[in-house]
Amino acid sequence: MARICESVAKAALKAGRSPKDVSVVAVTKTVALPRILEALECGISHVGESRVQEAKEKLPGLPPGITRHMVGHLQTNKVGSALGIFDVIHSLDRVSLAQEISRRALAQGMVARVLVQVNTAGDEERHGVLPGGVESLVRQISVMGGLSVEGLMTIAPYTSEERRLRKAFSVLRELRDEIKGKNMAGVTMEHLSMGMSGDYQLAIEEGATLVRVGTAIFGSRPRGGDG
Ligand SMILES: *Cc1c(COP(=O)(O)O)cnc(C)c1O
Repeated sequence: MARICESVAKAALKAGRSPKDVSVVAVTKTVALPRILEALECGISHVGESRVQEAKEKLPGLPPGITRHMVGHLQTNKVGSALGIFDVIHSLDRVSLAQEISRRALAQGMVARVLVQVNTAGDEERHGVLPGGVESLVRQISVMGGLSVEGLMTIAPYTSEERRLRKAFSVLRELRDEIKGKNMAGVTMEHLSMGMSGDYQLAIEEGATLVRVGTAIFGSRPRGGDG
């Protein structure tokens, strides 16, 4: 656990970046609360879950000051629960979902922090908007109230090929830079959520500000825990 923080700091320094610009989101799906609490003692302050129901059962047990991230696909009918549990939603990938988040956030007088999920590799099995559709989606979101678009998220292709991984990450960074330059209302675009246990070092070299790490912290999950 302490090792993961050291390793992230090392990767940041290697990339000429400051370790404090990269946060580890400990992805805790299938991990029981006592083990999560143990992990948090080593200084991690971000937790990620991919299912609303599981998060509802576990996350209320976290101490205050932990930022809670929804990293999995979000069904529109779960938005109400998700907004009650999570601080940041990484998986905004369609207008209808944005509309529902906006409607509920406005009703509660809150601003929902979201990242737009991008299918950088155009992989048919992945959720996320294709790179060519990101700016248009962000523009539509930017005129809705109750939403703050804080960046982009991607899940890299299943591969160990460095070239393809880097490509997915650099596509996300370039999109972020381009959209950030348009200075749209309610769009800060400060975050790049990319990199998991197998590839977070590369993601950090390509500009990640949030790395979502499960296995490298908690060990491998039982089969089927990939939500
Ligand atoms: C499970 C999961 C992770 C963490 O994956 P590891 O390979 O265990 O580090 C990161 N992001 C998302 C969206 C996930 O579902």
